Amino acid sequence: MYCKCYSIEDARKVFDENGESKSLVVCYNALISGYTSNSRFYEGFTLFCKMREAGVSANSVTMLGLVPLCALPVHLSLGMCLHGCCVKFGMDDQNAVANCLLTMYVKCGALDYALELFNMVPDKGLITWNAMISGCAQNGLASHVLDLYHKMELNGIDPDPVTLVGVLSSCAYLGAHKVGTKVEQRMHRSGFGSNPFLCNALINMYARCGNLAKARAVFDYMPEKSVVSWTAIIGGYGMHGHGEIAVQLFDEMISAGIRPDRTVFVSVLAACSHAGLTDKGLEYFAAMKMHYRLQPGPEHYSVWWIFWAGPANSRKQRRSLNLCRGFGGVLKVRAMMRKQKLRKEAGYSYTEYKGRVHLFFAGDRTHPQTEEIYRMLDELENSVKDLSEIHKHDQERRKEELLSGMGIHSEKLAIAFGLLNTTPGTEIVVMKNLRICENCHLFIKLVSKIVDRQFVVRDATRFHHVRNGTCSCKDYW
Ligand SMILES: [Zn+2]
Ligand SMILES: [Zn+2]
Repeated sequence: MYCKCYSIEDARKVFDENGESKSLVVCYNALISGYTSNSRFYEGFTLFCKMREAGVSANSVTMLGLVPLCALPVHLSLGMCLHGCCVKFGMDDQNAVANCLLTMYVKCGALDYALELFNMVPDKGLITWNAMISGCAQNGLASHVLDLYHKMELNGIDPDPVTLVGVLSSCAYLGAHKVGTKVEQRMHRSGFGSNPFLCNALINMYARCGNLAKARAVFDYMPEKSVVSWTAIIGGYGMHGHGEIAVQLFDEMISAGIRPDRTVFVSVLAACSHAGLTDKGLEYFAAMKMHYRLQPGPEHYSVWWIFWAGPANSRKQRRSLNLCRGFGGVLKVRAMMRKQKLRKEAGYSYTEYKGRVHLFFAGDRTHPQTEEIYRMLDELENSVKDLSEIHKHDQERRKEELLSGMGIHSEKLAIAFGLLNTTPGTEIVVMKNLRICENCHLFIKLVSKIVDRQFVVRDATRFHHVRNGTCSCKDYW
């Protein structure tokens, strides 16, 4: 109460001057939660120690006040001590305390501990499920999210919009179109059909799963479109190489009186770079700084860097590079690229077949159909050899690929798997976590010429719709 009426200093003064309050747990609790809401880590903990010294026993309110102070990775070990205290005091089976500890672990990024605790909570309510689902979603553990959501449904817990936003973002990440579609049905059944956060997540999910028409339908249906909705749909068109439509939508957004933010500029710049719309991109880049007074960040420069590093076009390269220099950004971008390389994760690709996900790493030999996949790839390599004008160069690349110890790139394995298992004419959809390399891109284009297939490859930045020897990205990616 003190802390709500007075400043925390005044409250502390009253507390210090009043001898009686030093033996009352409620007084400690009030002060501790006051320190927590002011993020005063040190004072909060010192008071907790004083409380223990004075022989006042903590109750669950004390813990609910104190645990959120540890919601940063540096304070994880202290948070774990508090968890220990909760167990010792026998409070850990109270739902509110368990949820509080769970949220603390999630915010510290300690997902293993969070999951362990989660599994031990006996009667998991919606808050518990949401804490775990959002935690995994924010930390990129998308397949965990889908598992949890499935279990939650089996347990008869009804999701709320918070749950579904986490699930949709994970579907978008994984390209899990079927689950995403079910979530949309669920949204409508539960009366969340017009929730703006869910609609934005839905646009993003459909676009990232390759269903642009559906993404557009959701967008058009929204009565009030925020800058987040526009960003999602512009990003969607950009990802699929429809730069012109993305640009058109961006201009429509401006006409509708929506003020652009830095994120929507990332989307529209990426759309321009994916479609090779250099002049339009330059225009936006300048407008961003001059007209909207938005400082371009590394994310904007990096879009330009990708653009610049794309296919040979010396005029364009010079212009982009000058632009980067002009804004003093090129060093920043280089530093960032270096950092990204250091943190470079292993490449993998996957494809859905008969409701199951088939995952491949580079040089993977663990799949049950490995023999057939590699045989298929050999045959394909031989057939495309004659088609490839730069085949010598290509062969060298392949040797490099094998010698680098990484083995054959994962997208090739996934493509071969798709060709082996699906009937002629079926579209093969492959999701890759990293940017597709030049060699694989060429290979897929050539293969699409000799087999009657359309390939859809989603890489780290965009979609490639490959058919009859050409790709929708027009080799800009
Ligand atoms: Zn490759
Ligand atoms: Zn492409």
